[in-house]
Amino acid sequence: MRYDVIVVGARVAGATTAMLLARQGLRVLAVDRARFPSDTLSTHQVQLPGVARLHRWGLLDRVRAAGTPAAHRIRLDVGHAVLDGQFSPYQGVDAIYSPRRTFLDALLVEAARAAGAEVREGFVVDRVVGDGDRVTGIRGFERGHSPVTEVAHLVVGADGKHSRVAEAAGARRYRKRAARSFGCYTYWSGVPLSGGELYHRPGRAVAAFPTNDGLTMVYTAAPKAEFADFRADVDTHYRKTLDLCGDLGDRVRDGVRAERFRAAPDLPNLFRVPCGPGWALVGDAGVVMDPVTAQGIANAFRDAELLAEAVAGGIDGGPTHLDRALSAYWRQRDEAVRPMYDLTVRLAGLAPLRRMERRLLASIADRPDEVDRFLGAFGGAIPLPEYRRTLLCRLAKRQR
Ligand SMILES: Cc1cc2nc3c(=O)[nH]c(=O)nc-3n(C[C@H](O)[C@H](O)[C@H](O)COP(=O)(O)OP(=O)(O)OC[C@H]3O[C@@H](n4cnc5c(N)ncnc54)[C@H](O)[C@@H]3O)c2cc1C
Repeated sequence: MRYDVIVVGARVAGATTAMLLARQGLRVLAVDRARFPSDTLSTHQVQLPGVARLHRWGLLDRVRAAGTPAAHRIRLDVGHAVLDGQFSPYQGVDAIYSPRRTFLDALLVEAARAAGAEVREGFVVDRVVGDGDRVTGIRGFERGHSPVTEVAHLVVGADGKHSRVAEAAGARRYRKRAARSFGCYTYWSGVPLSGGELYHRPGRAVAAFPTNDGLTMVYTAAPKAEFADFRADVDTHYRKTLDLCGDLGDRVRDGVRAERFRAAPDLPNLFRVPCGPGWALVGDAGVVMDPVTAQGIANAFRDAELLAEAVAGGIDGGPTHLDRALSAYWRQRDEAVRPMYDLTVRLAGLAPLRRMERRLLASIADRPDEVDRFLGAFGGAIPLPEYRRTLLCRLAKRQR
């Protein structure tokens, strides 16, 4: 059978793409070498635009029903200033959530199946097949079985930052920036939080968020050059970092570590051209950035939605029409992600804040409405260019 679309990778980018395409009546096959539920190396803060999409797709109630705590408030402590604020309502939602990937990814796979997509778990893609320069399908296998070839009008790579689909299609890389930090996180019981907590210190970033099963996820980031040192004694280095963050170190000391430490030293920053004849990329396969701003899941959801709209509008018109629709997806994706990508790469350097930034944060810290707008922009709900354009005007007005 010829599918309309084959999606390689079935986590936040792939399962969502499969779900949205299947909801439009397309014949969709999604494959993943993983089986679900399963974890992946990622924390799981879903920013407001991502939460709004889950809501629109009818999935947010399931996230809530699984006991995923809502974080209505965020406290950002940058040392010389503390911004404590809440999220302004955005497209029907006003809180962010940190569902465990074991839960979220399985939920999306189930939603893709419910929409009519065929999902094959435990299926490894070992080759992308083509006709001339057009991608026409994949070859893959389930462990212990012979390889099979499947064909489609479009093959979507949702296969993560080391995407095989991107490599096979020859997707050009651009805006590549060196990896700058590494992350380390684990889960704690007995460390209750009333919302999310973020800390910025020279050479360090820390995030603490409540997640499922009454646990708190605590993430630390440090410069990549320190990784070898860190790895030699993870527990001590991790706790030393938390001790820089007010009483967080003490609160964690009063809690109990519920899971092993996870270290993430492979944090590249790059864009790939996300489409070509017969292929497209979504999620980390298309743009990957340091998790210091926790944008990857919301980005994956946005890509899935933009791509699904482009495919729906282009697939019936034949290959040329589809290729044109995919180019529009490329433009929209880059426009949406570039400002946050540039900010993320800079923050991933974990350098001390610039003087201007310090002054700005100090000047808005006691203005609740400005703090809320800042948090909205930092989480991706207010586009950064728009936030910057209007900020100075608003501050000047206040001073008059
Ligand atoms: C330490 C860390 C913390 C993070 N924290 C956050 C956070 O708090 N919030 C946030 O929004 N983002 C966070 N991110 C980023 C986020 O994890 C990614 O952006 C997101 O997982 C990308 O989703 P994806 O579906 O594109 O790719 P992935 O989640 O990488 O999924 C790719 C899938 O493709 C499958 N696959 C790959 N190759 C093949 C093949 N050949 N055949 C079959 N299947 C294949 C894999 O098995 C995998 O299941 C973090 C990342 C890291 C590393």
